[in-house]
Amino acid sequence: MIKYPKLIYLNILPLFIILLSMITFSSCGQSVNNNSNQDYEVQRTDTEWRAQLSAEEFNILRNKGTERAFSGKYVDWDHKGTFNCKACNNPLFSSETKFESGTGWPSFYDYYNENSIIEKTDNSHGWARIEIVCQKCGSHIGHVFEDGPKPTGLRYCMNSLALTFEAE
Ligand SMILES: [Zn+2]
Repeated sequence: MIKYPKLIYLNILPLFIILLSMITFSSCGQSVNNNSNQDYEVQRTDTEWRAQLSAEEFNILRNKGTERAFSGKYVDWDHKGTFNCKACNNPLFSSETKFESGTGWPSFYDYYNENSIIEKTDNSHGWARIEIVCQKCGSHIGHVFEDGPKPTGLRYCMNSLALTFEAE
């Protein structure tokens, strides 16, 4: 009689572990692809984005694509001004924090202001990275890495095609 409850416990334990892992896996899947679930100030359908953006711009901004290294117009760009989101014109980065990273993508050590960007966990391509999206429209801009210069030590690695430049 004493062993009976213990047997039940042993029988449901594997089931419990399976259930727990299912919950964990499904929540991971949601956190990677939750762009469309957030209430961004600027919201458009894919058809509307395609009408506004070029095919390459759409692939980066709306499909999290990455342009080829050294292919972008802002890699060697040294004019004074602001880099805005190509999709909604939200100011994202200032030329004052741009630096030469040698990576082939325009790089900044800080963002423009508290309304510029949102950081998200990106586990695609089997690699844990921090994705940068525009705070106003949720479009993908690039990733941030922890090997940048002082004072932040951060490297915001952006796609030229996700940006538009506004001279001072
Ligand atoms: Zn935007």
